[in-house]
Formats: sequence, C-alpha cells, structure tokens
Amino acid sequence: MSGPGFRVGQGFDVHRFSDDPARRLVLGGVEFVGEPGLVGHSDADAVAHAVADALLGACGLDDIGQQFPDTDPRWAGADSVELLRHVVALLAAEGWVAGNVDCSVICERPKLAPHRDEMQRRLTAAVGAPVTVKGRRAEGLGAIGRVEGVACFAVALIHQAREEPT
Ligand code: MG
Repeated sequence: MSGPGFRVGQGFDVHRFSDDPARRLVLGGVEFVGEPGLVGHSDADAVAHAVADALLGACGLDDIGQQFPDTDPRWAGADSVELLRHVVALLAAEGWVAGNVDCSVICERPKLAPHRDEMQRRLTAAVGAPVTVKGRRAEGLGAIGRVEGVACFAVALIHQAREEPT
C-alpha cells in the first residue's frame, strides 16, 4: 500500500441540556443516573460523537451529521456507541484501523471521575483501540460554564490495516 501509513483527525461536539425529564444523560456510552439529559436526535452522547467525528475526519470520510442525518428516523434515540461501531466498520472498509483516541470533555456537571474508567472501557471496546477520557471544568466561563451543556474534543490517530501473515 502506498502513501502515508498514519493519519490524524479531530472531532468536536456540543449538546445543550434538555428540560425534558425523560431524557437520560449518556456520555461515553455510560448513563449518569439522576443527571439531566442532553438535547439530541440520538442519545446525544457528545463524547461518542466527538470520537466518531475524529475517526471519520482522519479517514477523510463525511462527518457524523452526514453519515447519520437527524432527519433519518433510523437514528432517533440511537445508541451512539452503536453509531461509533458503525464508524469503525466504515474505516475498516477503507483499510484503516484506529491507533488511539484521546478526549477532553468540558462541563461543569456531571462529575466524570466516578464513571471515567467505564467510559474509557466502553469507548475502547467500540473503537478497538485505546480511548482515553479527561474531564475539564469551564471555570464558569461561557455557555458551558453556565451549565447549559456539555462539549467534547477528541483527537484520533488511525493507521493502515495490515494483512495478517498466513
Ligand atoms: Mg452530537
């Protein structure tokens, strides 16, 4: 295979908190019970979405909004970790696999620390490569600082899949 064997991609996502008490908060595939949910067509998992966009961007594929349009009823209430698995399959079809993904989640609430290991486990299982998650407060600044939503940045490294020797 010719060309560079590695590529990087960046993903960003932000979702606003919902007034709907029926919305569940899901971040990195983990439900934060008792916390207000986020507005979105799917489960609004901003962390899984940022990871998916980083991987798609690295591969040069259309972004998550084009892959899973919010006008498509198939994705209503979708489990975003399943969307992420689908993205990994799209990469594989192009001959790429993830090397690792690193995420920064920016929010005043919820506290991520109690669920961080489980988020990393679920994302790592979906991506098939190490996914790390860090939490950052917005120090009261801007919309995130006013506890209006949750944002996430992700950076992904992908590499060309190698044929297993037979
Ligand atoms: Mg999103």
